Amino acid sequence: MKLNIQDTFNKELPADPNDANFVRQVEQACFSFVTPKKTKAPQIIHVSPEMVKHLGLTEEDTLSETFKNVFTGNEVLPHTNPYAMCYGGHQFGNWAGQLGDGRAINLTEIVHNNQRWAIQLKGAGKTPYSRTADGLAVLRSSIREYLCSEAMFHLGIPTTRALTLALSGEEVLRDMLYNGNPAYEKGAIVTRVAPSFLRFGNYQIFAARNDIKNLQTLVDYTLKHFYPEIGTPSKESYLQFFKTVAEKSLEMVLHWQRVGFVHGVMNTDNMSILGLTIDYGPYGWLEGYEYGWTPNTTDAQNKRYRYGNQPNIVLWNLYQLANALFPLIEEAEGLETILAEFGISFEAKYLEMMRSKIGLFSPNEKDQTLIQELENNLHLTETDMTIFYRNLSKFPKENPEQGIAIIQEAFYNTEALPAKISDAWNQWFSNYSERLFVEKETNAERAKKMNRVNPKYVLRNYMAQLAIDAADKGDYQLIDELFNLLKKPYDEQNQNEKWFAKRPEWARNKVGCSMLSCSS
Ligand code: AMP
Ligand code: MG
Repeated sequence: MKLNIQDTFNKELPADPNDANFVRQVEQACFSFVTPKKTKAPQIIHVSPEMVKHLGLTEEDTLSETFKNVFTGNEVLPHTNPYAMCYGGHQFGNWAGQLGDGRAINLTEIVHNNQRWAIQLKGAGKTPYSRTADGLAVLRSSIREYLCSEAMFHLGIPTTRALTLALSGEEVLRDMLYNGNPAYEKGAIVTRVAPSFLRFGNYQIFAARNDIKNLQTLVDYTLKHFYPEIGTPSKESYLQFFKTVAEKSLEMVLHWQRVGFVHGVMNTDNMSILGLTIDYGPYGWLEGYEYGWTPNTTDAQNKRYRYGNQPNIVLWNLYQLANALFPLIEEAEGLETILAEFGISFEAKYLEMMRSKIGLFSPNEKDQTLIQELENNLHLTETDMTIFYRNLSKFPKENPEQGIAIIQEAFYNTEALPAKISDAWNQWFSNYSERLFVEKETNAERAKKMNRVNPKYVLRNYMAQLAIDAADKGDYQLIDELFNLLKKPYDEQNQNEKWFAKRPEWARNKVGCSMLSCSS
């Protein structure tokens, strides 16, 4: 197995001089060297063939003992120095101090086909940043991260990737809902891959400690390796850096809103500096369309990270990053302008995105109202987001009275609609029909375009749960089935029609399907 190893972090960023895994505060360093934990009976249960290729590996490599051992933490490749990164963060709106890679261990960085990749194990044991926890991950959350990060990529959404899903062969004690009922579960390790795992919190920790020297070292490193187009370090390039991160974060959250992905725990330590979706924890997918929905039980009271609030939270998090970068820029105006532009730009881009979802391609001043009325209607009765938009593409503009019949399948309540609701929909379909006549596309052309932005298949929470329940019993077939299904989320895939279905009733209030918690 041959990887084109770079290990740049080690050489360019300040390392923690204390070379051991014990838990501590790590100052004036970007990372600490660590050794992954050896496990009893490692077993790789799924591999992403796309990522194998991206890393310059072969299928044959994946069958080797080395592959198994390296991607479960049981062997460290020559010329690599695994490390855990130091970062802080705002959790649920409050500064939490040092957090860091508590259960993530970066193996190394490589370059293949001019693309840089950091390779990271999640769940491979304690690091200096593990605080009071064990550094481990369980099978259920590892399956969720593995499947969802690859699925997001195929949806066209910036994300960290996954190479392997493995069992450690050990048991891990977890109190799944933090309600005093701990139980043993299977331990697992996911190999995650991304150009970089740097987060807003990596910069925040230095600003919080008033360590401006190392803040600058890290920002300069980031510019050099990940934003080379911005140019050499200067106050102007730091500002440009912030602007670019703001734009990338905006694009990311727009995609989330488009497909109904709810991250669940958008703390600043879970915000990638590259605008990637990162840290798949208690995430979920909207089934009934609802601004107020969050899958995260830890956030059930305030619902800070609810679907409809995600764009605001990205902006809030950008304010924190702006504060962290301020000591290097020393001038608030430029940062404030960028933050103010975020709101304006979001409004415009959101409108454009929503237009594309309903098949409007030339701007029209009435669209804002049409879309607002649509979103109001979607809240009238529980309406499945994915099914709704997918079926909407079948709407014949000549026959608005057929609208309700076309979207009927998306309603969770199968009884006849109350008159108030059907009137609202009929009115909307009539306006929509009128508006569609302004567009040049035929019904068929519009449907084709809409089906490229409205996925047919997403990783509904219950689907992941079915794969988890089977895997717990040693059956990994469903992981593979879902993995392959989600590679083509916009295609019809007639043989997979059973996955184009509303959430079954048994999953409505089931743990793992509608209730998840942080850091499991
Ligand atoms: P999260 O909310 O999962 O993004 O995690 C927040 C912080 O808790 C990060 O610093 C994680 O590394 C840390 N953390 C979460 N779970 C564990 C664990 N099992 N062991 C050690 N650290 C953890
Ligand atoms: Mg995290």
